[in-house]
Amino acid sequence: MTPATTHPTTAASEALFERARAVTPGGVNSPVRAFTAVGGTPRFITSASGAWLSDADGNDYVDLICSWGPMLLGHAHPEVQAAVADAVARGTSYGTPTRPEVELAEEIVSRTPVERVRFVSSGTEATMSAIRLARGATGRDLVVKFAGCYHGHVDPLLAEAGSGVATLAVPGTSGVPASSAAETLVLPYNDRAAVQAAFDAHGPRIACLITEATPGNMGIVPPEPGFNAFLAETCRNHGALFISDEVMTGFRATAQGGWGLDGAVEGWVPDLMTFGKVMGGGFPAAAFGGRSDLMAHLAPEGRVYQAGTLSGNPVATTAGLATLRLATDEVYAHLDATARTIREAASEALTAASVPHTVQTAGSMFSVFFSGEPVRDFAGASQQDTTAYAAFFHAMLDQGVYLPPSAYESWFVSAAHDERAVTTVLDALPAAARAAA
Ligand code: PLP
Repeated sequence: MTPATTHPTTAASEALFERARAVTPGGVNSPVRAFTAVGGTPRFITSASGAWLSDADGNDYVDLICSWGPMLLGHAHPEVQAAVADAVARGTSYGTPTRPEVELAEEIVSRTPVERVRFVSSGTEATMSAIRLARGATGRDLVVKFAGCYHGHVDPLLAEAGSGVATLAVPGTSGVPASSAAETLVLPYNDRAAVQAAFDAHGPRIACLITEATPGNMGIVPPEPGFNAFLAETCRNHGALFISDEVMTGFRATAQGGWGLDGAVEGWVPDLMTFGKVMGGGFPAAAFGGRSDLMAHLAPEGRVYQAGTLSGNPVATTAGLATLRLATDEVYAHLDATARTIREAASEALTAASVPHTVQTAGSMFSVFFSGEPVRDFAGASQQDTTAYAAFFHAMLDQGVYLPPSAYESWFVSAAHDERAVTTVLDALPAAARAAA
């Protein structure tokens, strides 16, 4: 594949975007894809292989979005494709229990602290269901979340959320009932005093605290040392459940997910966890899980109802299982090394062009903030120069590198990002940094 040259032709994408806008709000099926924050026309992708995307005009790009996380092994991995083709040939959905569901659940249980899981079709469903379970198990209503964390488009979790909600600068969202928002306490991230005060004031009414294991939806904002352990302990002291949302970090930040970064070291164990993205291998599969006694509250064992026509779909769980089985320590070492090479080169290029920036990491995930200060919460992330990011983004795109079209997102690499892909990125960085200056 040949990287796009400067100012690639985009006529086919533009034509498709116009048709899309006529029949779909914003022309997209998930807001951040629309390039609203960076301007211009999103590229309509027609195929992908390894580290590369090809668009409707025949341009090729090194992919640093990786479908917003899932494509850990790269696109169209031959062994995942073969497993999926085999599954499809045997029918695509039965509405009965299947072997791949059991094996994927066993794989997740073997890698993480959860004892049992339930499959759903999206990360949103996973967090929604985990919260219902927490409320059912505790008999309480309040949910604590952090500003800048995104847990999907669940009504009570959209308050001051990250990801597209941050990109579009909407503090909440219309359509969420005031009663739902009133049941959510939104706190600044990494702020122990705020957490303590919220639990002191409302402890007996708090069902759960949900946090990203390492926030990635306001850019990467790692927990300060001991913060997750403090959250787990505070919840325990007040009889609330601690939910670690690993939809983005799960099996991505490390083999054990975000929990592998500090949970294993600090000795905290979440009551419930949510997963998605990588564990679906590019298909709609997600999960929530946790302590066996808590999971027993779910129907049919318990009285908290939760269900799904396509939950645990055999094709999706087969893709996820093939992906996780191929995600060896060697793969994670490659992801770490590739991420380090790209983020160091990005920082070097931005420094050379005198562009204030801060690079923050969570295992193989990283993001580049276009502000000179370390970022520890959403207020810090919001200080970024998003205009500079937009210039940087378009200069990279013109040179054949597809970055997330928002300054608030993590950059993702895959096992298929080889020397040629990385060289394409490194070669593009200096001109993009100058464009951002
Ligand atoms: N939780 C986190 C941490 C996420 O990053 C996301 C999506 O980006 C979600 C939940 C929602 O997942 P989905 O988009 O599959 O509904």
